[in-house]
Amino acid sequence: MCGVFAAALPRGSGTEAANVAALGLFALQHRGQESAGLAVSDGRELFLYKDLGMISSVLDERRLPSFHGDLAIAHCRYSTTGSTIWENAQPTLRLGPRRAVAIGHNGNLVNTRELLGQLQGGRGRLPASTDTELLTALLADEPGADTVEALLGLLPRVRGAYSLVILDKDRIIGVRDPFGFRPLCIGRIPDVAAPVAAPGGLWGDDAPVDGPRDGWVLSSETTGLDIVGAEYVREVEPGEIVILQPGREPRSVRFAPATPALCVFELIYFARPDSYLEGRSLYEARRRMGMELAREFPADTDLIMPVPDTGAPAAAGFAEASGIPFREGLVRNRYTGRTFIQPSQTLRHRGVTLKLNPLREVVRGKRLTVVDDSIVRGTTTQQIVALLRRAGAAEVHVRISAPPIYHPCFYGIDTQVSAELIAATKSVEEIREFIGADSLGYLSIKGVLAALDLPYDRFCFACFDGRYPEPVPYDVERRKFLLEEPVATRG
Ligand code: SF4
Repeated sequence: MCGVFAAALPRGSGTEAANVAALGLFALQHRGQESAGLAVSDGRELFLYKDLGMISSVLDERRLPSFHGDLAIAHCRYSTTGSTIWENAQPTLRLGPRRAVAIGHNGNLVNTRELLGQLQGGRGRLPASTDTELLTALLADEPGADTVEALLGLLPRVRGAYSLVILDKDRIIGVRDPFGFRPLCIGRIPDVAAPVAAPGGLWGDDAPVDGPRDGWVLSSETTGLDIVGAEYVREVEPGEIVILQPGREPRSVRFAPATPALCVFELIYFARPDSYLEGRSLYEARRRMGMELAREFPADTDLIMPVPDTGAPAAAGFAEASGIPFREGLVRNRYTGRTFIQPSQTLRHRGVTLKLNPLREVVRGKRLTVVDDSIVRGTTTQQIVALLRRAGAAEVHVRISAPPIYHPCFYGIDTQVSAELIAATKSVEEIREFIGADSLGYLSIKGVLAALDLPYDRFCFACFDGRYPEPVPYDVERRKFLLEEPVATRG
C-alpha cells in the first residue's frame, strides 16, 4: 500500500506545490495511516518534513506555509518493510555524492538484500530500515549526468513492486515497475496560474505567468486528481519513467518492456471505490463482483448487508442480482482507521469492536447475508458475526467478493507470513466454523474476471493462486524487518 502524490507547477504560478501535494495526499489517506510527509524543491534546495501519524496531524496549516517551491512530493505510509518509526516515514531524502533526491514509494522490493550489497560496495550505512531508504541511497550515489540517467542505470537492478515519485532540484519523476503492481496516474491542472474569482479558492493568486500555465501531478489513484482539480491524462505505464518540469509538457522514457500484472486487490479492496483503474470505475467493478457472487453462492435470507465501508458496492450488487433487500445493519465509527491497515495483530484484534456497531432494530430476528471483500486473518469476520448474533440476528451467512487468500504478498501488502492467512491453513468449511457463520462463500477468480471484463494476464492474482509474476528469492518470513540491523547499530 502507501499513497504517493507529486505536483509540478509552472514557475511563478502563485500556488505552492506543497499545498497541492498535501491536498492530493488527503485523498489517499486510506492507503496508509502510519506516517505522512512532504518534500519540496524551490529550484535550489530540497526541504523535507515527515512524522508519524495521520496526514491531517502531520501536514497541518501551521507547517504547510513554510514550504515554498514549484515542485513537491508527498507520501502516506503503510509499512511492508521496516518498523513504524520516525526514521522510516517518507519521503526519504538523501544528499548524495552525486545528487540530492527525495523519494515516495508505493510497493515493496524483493531483492533488498542483494541491493544492500551494492550500496557503496557493501559498506554503505542506512539511517532507516526501509527498502525505500536503500533505493534513495543507491540513486543518490548512482553515476549519470542527471537523475533520469541514473535511474536508467539503477532500475534494471531493482526487482519487485515500485510506483515512485522522485524529487530532485529541477524535476519530478514518476516511475512504475515493469509489472505495474501498484497504480500511478498522471493528471493535468489546466491553467493553474489563472486567477480564481472565489475568495479563498485553492488557486487564489492573480500573478500572471508567461509560458505554459498547466500544472502536472502524479497520484496513486484518480481520487487524488479530483481533489486538486486535475484532469486524468493517463496511467504511468509499467516500465515507464515520466518527467515533470515546471512549464514543460511531460516527457517519457521507457526503461523496460511492460509485462503488466496490476495487483487485482487494488480493484477488489484497496483503492477507493470512486477511483478508476484500467479504465474501470471501481465502484462499478465491485458492484459487478457482488452480482457474480450472488450467482456463484446464492443465499436465501431476509436482508443483504454490507460490512462498511468497503463491502458496500459488492453488497449492493449482490442485492440487485438476488432480489433480496439491501439494508445497512452495521455502522462504522469513521475515526478509527481501517482494520487491515493497522500494523499489529493486537490492534487488528481490538479494531473491529472499536469500529463497528450493529443497528439492533435492523438485524434482530433476521436471516442476514453479510457481504465483505476479503478475509485475511479471520478474526475481524469472526467478531462481526458474533456482534450480529449478539444483536439478535437469526442467521448470519457470509459472502466474500474475492477468492480465499492462500498465499502471502511480497509486493506491498503486509501479508508476508503464510501462517497469518486463515485460508492457508484451513479449508473453507473450517473457516466457516472459525468465524461462526451459518454459511460461507467466496467469489472465484473466474467471477472476478467476469466482473472486470478483463483478461487474467493483465493482473497479479498471486495471493489467490500462487503464481507470482516476480519470484521472491530469499527467506520470506523475516522480510519485513530485513533492514532493521542498520537502525539498531546506528547508535
Ligand atoms: S500477491 Fe495479491 S495482494 Fe500482492 S500484488 Fe499480487 S494480487 Fe496484489
